[in-house]
Amino acid sequence: MKTLRSIVYKGKSDYVNMGGNLIRQPLPTQEVDQVDPFLLLHHYKYDVGPYSPGLSLSPHPHRGFEPVTFIFKGEQLHRDSLGNEGILHAGDVQWMTAGSGVVHDEGPSKDFVGTMEGIQLWVNLPKKHKMTTPKYQDVKAEKMPLVAVKNGKGIIKVVAGELNGQKGPTSTFTDINAYIANLEAGDNITIPIPANHELLVYLLEGETRVNDVDTLKEDKLQILTFAKDGEAISLEANQNSTLLILSGEPIEEKVTSWGPYVMNTQTEIMEAMRDFQQGKMGYLY
Ligand code: MN
Repeated sequence: MKTLRSIVYKGKSDYVNMGGNLIRQPLPTQEVDQVDPFLLLHHYKYDVGPYSPGLSLSPHPHRGFEPVTFIFKGEQLHRDSLGNEGILHAGDVQWMTAGSGVVHDEGPSKDFVGTMEGIQLWVNLPKKHKMTTPKYQDVKAEKMPLVAVKNGKGIIKVVAGELNGQKGPTSTFTDINAYIANLEAGDNITIPIPANHELLVYLLEGETRVNDVDTLKEDKLQILTFAKDGEAISLEANQNSTLLILSGEPIEEKVTSWGPYVMNTQTEIMEAMRDFQQGKMGYLY
């Protein structure tokens, strides 16, 4: 029997205002600035009407990390300065490596009407890979292996890393496990976590008891982080629940970020601003 990790932080997932759009931001918070290598988690959910412009960010740059998008409902159009353009559907994941710099844009696809729900995650890159060539992994839902909950009805989708011998299709620069758990009421599962990984669990909807200690529930308690003092967590769903489970080998380097750039020093941030202004991260019209 593996030792369960102790919970060190419990957060609510409060809303922040991003250009008029209310988005949940469970990470970073006043108390937690990162769960190394995970820097930021945004959870958005909104309705798109027939004449609604929806959530549309205008073209913007990134450098020095990986912006990752998980789509849970609806469909999202993305375009970038590398020439990629496509539509992500519910269940798909876009794992972008901004590296030395990319300009991109995203929002509901033109004719979409309905509910949009997604998560944007920022994964840090180690210093030696911050200026890597930008790339883009469009990971379709059907490419991700599903691990069934033993004696239960739910499933866990392996986006990156490995679970019970099932490997996710996404390549990462550091050792990362990213799982999406769709549990049904009554499901009970113990999930192994590598001893050297940092870990967070985020609940999108439902109600799930963790380690038989705390209960995640929408608007009450949605994010937990854990100490590196064990090799597993246990989840017991009281209601049908959707959770994002992220673990990763910590990078343990100084982080200096400003807006859309995540580097190691202030000088590198200034260089990023200059390089963007000079068009070195490409163009998107
Ligand atoms: Mn972006």
